[in-house]
Amino acid sequence: MGFEEVRFEKNSDKAIQNKPLQKALVNVTDRFRTARNKASKEVSDWEELRSAAREIKKNTIANLDKYLIMLEEKVIKAGGIVHWAKDAHEASQIIVKIANDRGVKLVVKSKSMATEEIELNSSFEDAGIKVVETDLGEYIIQLAGEHPSHIIAPAIHKTKDDISALFSEKLGVPHYEKPEELTKVARERLRSEFLNAEMGVSGANFAVAETGTIVIVENEGNARLTTTVPKIHVALVGIEKLIPKYEDLSLFLSILARSATGQKSSTYVSFITGPKSPTDVDGPEEFHLVLLDNGRSGILASEETRESLYCIRCGACLNICPVYRHVGGHSYGGAYSGPIGAIITPQLMGIDKASELPFASSLCGACHDVCPVKIDFPKVLLELRKNVIESKKLGINSGKDLIEKLGIRFWRFTVEYESIYKITNKLSYYLQIPWKRSNGKLNALPYPFSRWTDKRDFPSVAKKTFRERWKEIKAETG
Ligand code: SF4
Repeated sequence: MGFEEVRFEKNSDKAIQNKPLQKALVNVTDRFRTARNKASKEVSDWEELRSAAREIKKNTIANLDKYLIMLEEKVIKAGGIVHWAKDAHEASQIIVKIANDRGVKLVVKSKSMATEEIELNSSFEDAGIKVVETDLGEYIIQLAGEHPSHIIAPAIHKTKDDISALFSEKLGVPHYEKPEELTKVARERLRSEFLNAEMGVSGANFAVAETGTIVIVENEGNARLTTTVPKIHVALVGIEKLIPKYEDLSLFLSILARSATGQKSSTYVSFITGPKSPTDVDGPEEFHLVLLDNGRSGILASEETRESLYCIRCGACLNICPVYRHVGGHSYGGAYSGPIGAIITPQLMGIDKASELPFASSLCGACHDVCPVKIDFPKVLLELRKNVIESKKLGINSGKDLIEKLGIRFWRFTVEYESIYKITNKLSYYLQIPWKRSNGKLNALPYPFSRWTDKRDFPSVAKKTFRERWKEIKAETG
């Protein structure tokens, strides 16, 4: 991944102060959640579908080598060209070279998290090639010079007024107020880009090993144009996107649409097998499939965290996550945000570059409950937290870790001896008085406790301990 080191705490501090962002996040994620809950309840065997999808992904990932070779053979047989990219740099080099070798000057792109992951747009721009995002949300954030903040709704953090001001500034159009007027502006601009582009770049939601077909799910129709109008189509696909059989698609398409937007089916589903054949009226003359590793083999090697690769990028875990709903996608630094970002980014980038992310969770498990492939987030997060601690050599490398360690030692010492525990309890009650507020909560505590009270109140220590109250109640009730 080409992103810088992730500073989740710093980023989220800023996001929490941003009131319009908070409002936008709650509005959109609530809408997605409600739609997803309704759609999943309409299917009587929803839980069985989730289990079946998990089993297929588990089998695919466990036999990934076999299925990748099968996919490669089928794509070549269909007339496509397959490239293998070990990392972000190599993937970008391959794609830019395909463009340069054919004199491409304009590229259109449909939404693809893999291309975000490798920061492909920067590589095109460095090579003097114009690249235009064609998904409306991606188009907006490209104009704004930002990264996506949600897997399926990249511009979730922007209000209608933000977009109106942005279009006016970057495209020289009046300040339109209605969403229809804004989408019309984008549509008109993008039409001419589609017609003039020499190359289209897409991702894929699935790659079917037995047929060599890549499958793209969308609601705007822009991916369809991206993959059929230009003469060259390049698909960048993470190696974990495989599914073995064509017949598995009905299951995955059904759970993906319902989990993502609450739709029974997405508006457009494109099935692409190689370039156009001599009998096809339209379609690209060249089809390139770039298979991206970029850290995925490393994840595959870890039995404890391997299931992170089962993800089908529906976004449901983001919409339910109490942390994401407060801090938004940009706090997570990399291309992926929310619970999936918290587990996948440290594994793709290296735990040292994203060590705060596995802690960006309350471990409530809501993400596990909604994930269509049942990724066990709490288990994976705990494993990654363990790796972070181990990588910091027993957690005494920084002042913060040392204080935490001393705090835990002190706590252990007090609970080991009953009399010391009782004294500490009484002492705490009196020591807390300067920070006790009228609502009975503690606020503005000194460091290191300020790391909690900077963001929220802390419950105060009760005057009587649980044991004392228990004795009193027993005495009263006989
Ligand atoms: S982890 Fe599960 S819920 Fe989250 S995006 Fe991936 S498939 Fe969807």
